[in-house]
Amino acid sequence: MSERYFPDEMPSPAVNAETAPWWEAAAHHHLVVQRCTECGTTRHPPGPVCPVCRSLRSQWHEVPGTGTVYTYTVVRQAFIPALADKLPYAVIAVELDDAGGARLVSNLVDAPATDAAVGMAVEVVWEDMGPELSVPRFRPAPGSQRRAARRA
Ligand SMILES: [Zn+2]
Repeated sequence: MSERYFPDEMPSPAVNAETAPWWEAAAHHHLVVQRCTECGTTRHPPGPVCPVCRSLRSQWHEVPGTGTVYTYTVVRQAFIPALADKLPYAVIAVELDDAGGARLVSNLVDAPATDAAVGMAVEVVWEDMGPELSVPRFRPAPGSQRRAARRA
């Protein structure tokens, strides 16, 4: 089992036919993105139709699991009662490396929530929430805490 960051009482993801392959890859600690087979456009969250060329064909590609914090918020209220003793925690949107601009909403872990910053370099760490459910969280990447913002 992995290190645990959040309690079992966290709401479970709503898996559907489009997202099931993503969660199956995650259960094996593989971070993947869906890419259009016709034009190469990445889409996340996964969906049935390419927003660019309307193709129904797609494939899954594994990405390195590194990225940059695109934006974040620090949660200081227990909107989920089970998280009262986890406050404050950071919800981050990570722009994934080599993922065609795909962003993933997750949490910053292994660092104080107040360390979250736009441009922070992060890497995935898997939290096994159950035998078939692993959730990608992100911790500061070794070395540099920040990267130059790519969008000024
Ligand atoms: Zn396409």
